[in-house]
Amino acid sequence: MSSAKFNVIDNNVDGLLYINPIVSFKRFRIKNSSGGWVLHSPLQGDLWPFKIALKAYIDKTSKPPCDITRDSSVGIYSTKNTCNDDYLSRYILGTIYSWGRIIEHENGYRSEFAYIKSIESIPCSICCISIKDIDNSFYLDSPGCVAILCSSCYTTQYRYSKSLFGSIEKYPIRAVLESLVYSYGLECFLL
Ligand SMILES: [Zn+2]
Repeated sequence: MSSAKFNVIDNNVDGLLYINPIVSFKRFRIKNSSGGWVLHSPLQGDLWPFKIALKAYIDKTSKPPCDITRDSSVGIYSTKNTCNDDYLSRYILGTIYSWGRIIEHENGYRSEFAYIKSIESIPCSICCISIKDIDNSFYLDSPGCVAILCSSCYTTQYRYSKSLFGSIEKYPIRAVLESLVYSYGLECFLL
């Protein structure tokens, strides 16, 4: 989204080194982990730690300082726009800070370090529309079904077909969001 030139302190090697973070978009999934709510990347599956920077996995066979180069695929991925392709648009939209070695691509970035800045919108898993009525929307969790349902889809798809879902756990979206905001110290204007 933004990158001031003064951020760049070293461009002698492949990629640019950023001290001040850039801000870009990323999609997330929610996971109930040992009773607490965590965010993870839908594609790579990395769990994002609380209040600690996520560091890109570095191939141990590469030479230091890291192998985030234009020719590699290493780095924490983020996008310049809201990333609305069919697969990813069903997941939570957030923004992240990225810094360290960064490779800029046409539509996004690969970075060495990142941390979550905000949650911008939460799409319903069925209709994919951003949830507005967070007090009547739910996160559903069972071994066979993990989904977020808006109030409309919850009423039509879940309430009248409980036998299909069995003993599924149901959590109000507001409580989940409040937990994430507290644990990560992030911004969320949906609350
Ligand atoms: Zn819906």
